[in-house]
Amino acid sequence: YIPAILVALAVSSSIVLILSLVRIQNVSFAPNNKYGMVFDAGSSHTSLFVYQWTSDKTNDTGVVSQTLSCNVEGPGISSYASDPPKAGVSLRSCLEDALKVIPDERQREVPVYLGATAGMRLLSMENKSAADQVLNEVAKTIQQYPVNFHGARIITGEEEGAYGWITINYLLDSFTKYSPKQRDWIHPQSAKILGALDLGGASTQISFIPIGPITDQTKASTFRLYGFTYTIYTHSYLCYGQNQALKQLILKIIENMGVQGSVNHPCYPEGYQETTTAASIHSMPCTASQAQTLSQASWNATLVGTGNATECRMAIKQIFNFTACGQSQSCTFDGIYQPLINGEFFAFSAFYYTFSFLNLTSGQPLAVVEDTVQKFCARNWTDLKSSYPKEKDQWLREYCANANYILVLLLDAYKFNQTSWSSIKFQMKAANTDIGWTLGYMLNLTNMIPAEAPEQVKGQQH
Ligand code: AMP
Repeated sequence: YIPAILVALAVSSSIVLILSLVRIQNVSFAPNNKYGMVFDAGSSHTSLFVYQWTSDKTNDTGVVSQTLSCNVEGPGISSYASDPPKAGVSLRSCLEDALKVIPDERQREVPVYLGATAGMRLLSMENKSAADQVLNEVAKTIQQYPVNFHGARIITGEEEGAYGWITINYLLDSFTKYSPKQRDWIHPQSAKILGALDLGGASTQISFIPIGPITDQTKASTFRLYGFTYTIYTHSYLCYGQNQALKQLILKIIENMGVQGSVNHPCYPEGYQETTTAASIHSMPCTASQAQTLSQASWNATLVGTGNATECRMAIKQIFNFTACGQSQSCTFDGIYQPLINGEFFAFSAFYYTFSFLNLTSGQPLAVVEDTVQKFCARNWTDLKSSYPKEKDQWLREYCANANYILVLLLDAYKFNQTSWSSIKFQMKAANTDIGWTLGYMLNLTNMIPAEAPEQVKGQQH
């Protein structure tokens, strides 16, 4: 009987061992909230995002969601070049709001990142020491809070494009998905991988997986995510964010019409007018060099809105050098290489703001979009002001210009057409999280997307 007793003992102890292992595993997978914060220091404003996920120590692949977003009051940090400490002060109220949603005992481990985009890229080109001082001041402020600060830096346009692409595909589970039926992590069809279209105030980004090879390697980025390798085309156009593009447009209009007196602006509503000066154009890095072509050193011009969408679109085309592409279809403007667009796209940030204002985010066909824009541009300033009393003047007067700018960028530069138009979704959020580069940036810097498939998580789900 002794061998039988030994066998029984061995079996029961291994059952106990298995059960305790299961218990240990269950304990180690118990919810344990983690947090991360990212500041998006854009050209026109700064936002702070707080993300949250549950995770255990052995497995950092928890599903991330957005807990809070906070809009910093005032302009973008690049506007504080002449008074950098104010850039730091401007972040305080959002930092305080963010700390209220994070338990005290967790705060010191929360990674905090600040990424500045095209507004700061421009300031740094113009005045490097002013840009460095602004970054120092925002860093100094964040360091005064009980968090794990990982630095403030200017991210490149390519990073901005690539992280936006990671964000949407992560949020929509395009990279990997747990299939309860197959009891495994599956790799959704690569056709489901989305492209990203991001429009800021000072730059715009396009990122997608083309059908064929990417012949210009400077525009290719490769990632290994959950066991698969993705190579995306990504490009960022500095000075082609909507605010800088509209500055370039004003310069073109003035160049065409002469600088003195009043000048018709076809993208502004009829009944609206504003005065612009040489100083305001010369001081902007995107227009400074071109402005020298104007003969007078000092001028001012009154821009008079005529609200004509057709003329507006024609005028906008002039800020793009399409002839530099010749007959090539793999070229946008200024001779910049882009393979033919492919697949579905999400268009977010300022693409979304304008299209949402015009009620054009439900997948309307291109003809309906063009008709809506045409009609909107024809509405005069008095009508607009009384119809949208709560809308900021700056945005209201620019929706016609921005809508036409978006059409020229998407159709003439990126070469979407009537058919591929329907593959663009204008969307601001996915899975209750804002779409932008910040989530992808944090996922990358915290190593939250493993290069290989998440085996441990697979174990948890069995
Ligand atoms: P950035 O600060 O670089 O992210 O730029 C965002 C762009 O969108 C800027 O041109 C802003 O003026 C514009 N913008 C931001 N919020 C809104 C809004 N709610 N409606 C319209 N335009 C907006």
